[in-house]
Amino acid sequence: MLDPAAFLDDLDTLRGIGRRGTGVVRRAFDPDDIRARRRLADRFAAAGLDPVIDPAGNVWGCGGPILIGSHTDTQPEGGWLDGSLGVIAGLAVARARPGAVSVVSFQDEEGRFGATTGSEIWSGALSLDAADALTDLDGTTFGAARCALPSTGSAPDPARFRTYLEPHIEQGPVLDAAGEAVGIVTAIVGLRQVTVTMEGRQNHAGTTPMHLRADALRGFGMAQDAIATALEDVVTPDSVWTIGHVALHPNAPSIVPGRVRFTVQWRDASAARLERMETAIRRALEDAARASVLRIDISDTTALPPAPMDSTLQDVLARAAEREAPGRWRRMPSGALHDATNVARVLPVAMLFAPSIGGISHAFDEDTDRDDLVTMLRVLDRAVGELT
Ligand SMILES: [Zn+2]
Repeated sequence: MLDPAAFLDDLDTLRGIGRRGTGVVRRAFDPDDIRARRRLADRFAAAGLDPVIDPAGNVWGCGGPILIGSHTDTQPEGGWLDGSLGVIAGLAVARARPGAVSVVSFQDEEGRFGATTGSEIWSGALSLDAADALTDLDGTTFGAARCALPSTGSAPDPARFRTYLEPHIEQGPVLDAAGEAVGIVTAIVGLRQVTVTMEGRQNHAGTTPMHLRADALRGFGMAQDAIATALEDVVTPDSVWTIGHVALHPNAPSIVPGRVRFTVQWRDASAARLERMETAIRRALEDAARASVLRIDISDTTALPPAPMDSTLQDVLARAAEREAPGRWRRMPSGALHDATNVARVLPVAMLFAPSIGGISHAFDEDTDRDDLVTMLRVLDRAVGELT
């Protein structure tokens, strides 16, 4: 029998490890992360699961063929739910359905060293040797950090599982704004990024006539407008693009700017649309450079492909959502990366979202209504029932 009170109690207990006000700080392999992982292994054992801490720091509760989980490490200022919700929900369903479920907390999802490092290693996309060389901002390597959490066994073979389900908070405003309780993820969006340098002529801001300037910042403004216009006919309401980093040289009040360097990043669930967006963005940048008489350099593209969720699993979750929250759920893409992106290489995967109040995440005041947490747990349990 599902025990929602025990589920909420486990979430609150985990929140107490590394607690900062309403939020938590548990960076991968810091003392509180290690305390949380060891405690989790004990909770798995108490639930009748076989606990394993693997060499990458992933914590497993091995039981049945349906793997449920996420991560319990956090950002430098983390919310209490984020990945913890998925791990503790998995534990609650494992208790309710003996023999059906295994549970995992992947390591370093939040990227102290890499990004989704633990699930990347488990899915075979990254070797442990290569991971060991990754460093955090202080120069500590993954290899050195993981010595603080000795492994108790090797990671289970992906072949022992049939599916992976990852419950998570939405980390965006869509469900909360619509008053809905559950999101069923259609795909984790792909991401592409380029770094652009536009170069003009650095000069005196008092003596250089306006018509003789090659002002890099003016070119940047034109590029920004050109990208927005060019994308109008290419995107859907779910597509996003961001100029998130801009460095102006020399960035002084009395100097006509000579150089600007900026990133353009775009995300979408469709690989074909990502490609069309890239064509439009590159053309807009070239046009803006020509119109503002600037030299332009556009870097090679950094690309992460979209990860579609398994359609059969989506339908199972949709049926469960309609029973537990009739009319209060939707299908939606995930704009954020998750461990499911990596696990999709080795297993059919699906994700479900709980609403984030005000759309806030990666912040101490991230929160979700407790009724919505329990609704998500019931949807997950019903779906596992259908899959068993
Ligand atoms: Zn997360």
